[in-house]
Amino acid sequence: MTIKLYNTLTRKLEEFKPLVPGHVGFYSCGPTVYHYTHLGNLRTFLHNDFLKRMFLANGYDVRHIMNITDVGHLTNDEDDSGEDKMEKGAARDNKSVWDIARFYKDEFMRDFNDLNMIAPTVMPHATDYIAEQIELVQKLQDLGYTYEIPNDGIYYDTSKFAGYGALTGGSLSGNRAGARVGFNDAKRNPTDFALWKFSPTDVKRQMEWDSPWGIGFPGWHAECSAMSMKLLGNHFDIHTGGEDLSRVHHANEIAQSEPITGAPWVNTWLHYSFLLDKSGEKMAKSKGEFLGLESVRKRGYDPMVYRYFVALGHYQSQLAFSWETMDASANGYANLVRRVADLIVVNDGTVDSVAYDAWHEKMLAAMSDNLKTAAVLVHVQDFIKSNEINGATKLALVRFADDLLGLQFIDRAQKLVDLERESAPAEIVALAESRATAKANRDWATADALRAEIDAAGWTVLDGKDGYKIVKKA
Ligand code: AMP
Ligand code: ZN
Repeated sequence: MTIKLYNTLTRKLEEFKPLVPGHVGFYSCGPTVYHYTHLGNLRTFLHNDFLKRMFLANGYDVRHIMNITDVGHLTNDEDDSGEDKMEKGAARDNKSVWDIARFYKDEFMRDFNDLNMIAPTVMPHATDYIAEQIELVQKLQDLGYTYEIPNDGIYYDTSKFAGYGALTGGSLSGNRAGARVGFNDAKRNPTDFALWKFSPTDVKRQMEWDSPWGIGFPGWHAECSAMSMKLLGNHFDIHTGGEDLSRVHHANEIAQSEPITGAPWVNTWLHYSFLLDKSGEKMAKSKGEFLGLESVRKRGYDPMVYRYFVALGHYQSQLAFSWETMDASANGYANLVRRVADLIVVNDGTVDSVAYDAWHEKMLAAMSDNLKTAAVLVHVQDFIKSNEINGATKLALVRFADDLLGLQFIDRAQKLVDLERESAPAEIVALAESRATAKANRDWATADALRAEIDAAGWTVLDGKDGYKIVKKA
């Protein structure tokens, strides 16, 4: 099947052509583990998962690398100033840098698994690839791309790289917006960036390494160039990340890599649009209200509802998050699960291969056409409603939709079928009633406490359009 993806580098929807037939290698910028991952980050990771599932459904052998940033990401990554995010996070949590890296990575993996994302082939940590990053800087130094700023670090001279900023159609003449604010006067060009930072002489850093330039730590961009080349080779198919990364981080990755590997280093660049908060701004870790998957779980939503919400959008469009839209998604998801549960209960017919192939083709075509996840869901709605195909064929198609979108319809429907065999005792119903009243009064604290009490008794309240349902926990 023809696969089309929007390539930021060429600004075109292009037919995907793998470097090696039947194989795809892709690298995704992963989380910086100094804090919980928010719903915006998770949106980006979900799009990676849709991309991967699309290739798998097309029979590709997928090699996916996603890094864990545990060093070198400064609070102001536009001009390599500010504090190291990891050291700052460690001070906030009163733990060591290594401890917070482990803690937030584990929390991230919990969200990752709850959202049913397929594990990357390799998940390298930046701190395990320091030697490769030093080697990268050395090569760039040998090629004449670097200069030293005393008491600061080794910098990349972007004026030496003719194609700088190609992803955003930029050039050196166009200064970065805001770059002047914290502009480091010692830099030769506003777009120059640190490859290696020297440890300060007055403060002892928790993470630092020896290098040919003295004790210090790598600049944030170095890790993605070094690790992707090491794990995917000098040329690979796709590189992905959130839309904020194209202008600086990815521009710098290209500038670091192409002098070494030749151009193009990466064939296709995919950038995912932001998740916005309710005020219409980019969801960010520095914002007051922290909306992570934990908030979703705490409010009683199945994490699949968030996945469903993301699948209803498209990666090239920004998506606004609100609890109202989550409610709408919860209803949509629950309706589909209900229909699938009914199919499981009725369990009629045998698979009609002609009908199966026709709908299978439609779903795969939508997904392969620039990851149109919402269009796949429209097909799911349509075949489920259709009077022309039997239950067994519908169930087989839902299984394929689950492979494509990872929405676990079959799993949730089976659980529903199992749980509906038992009904809740009166005292649990009373607690759920009080919780519904508390929710209606927007008294979240009481509602949460009542949910906890119900949970502790072995039951769960599922919120839906027509009120709630009480089910026994699996
Ligand atoms: P970070 O942990 O900050 O390094 O970000 C991890 C990934 O999430 C990167 O690919 C970012 O581009 C992406 N990202 C950050 N904020 C958002 C957002 N509001 N919506 C979607 N993706 C985001
Ligand atoms: Zn990166």
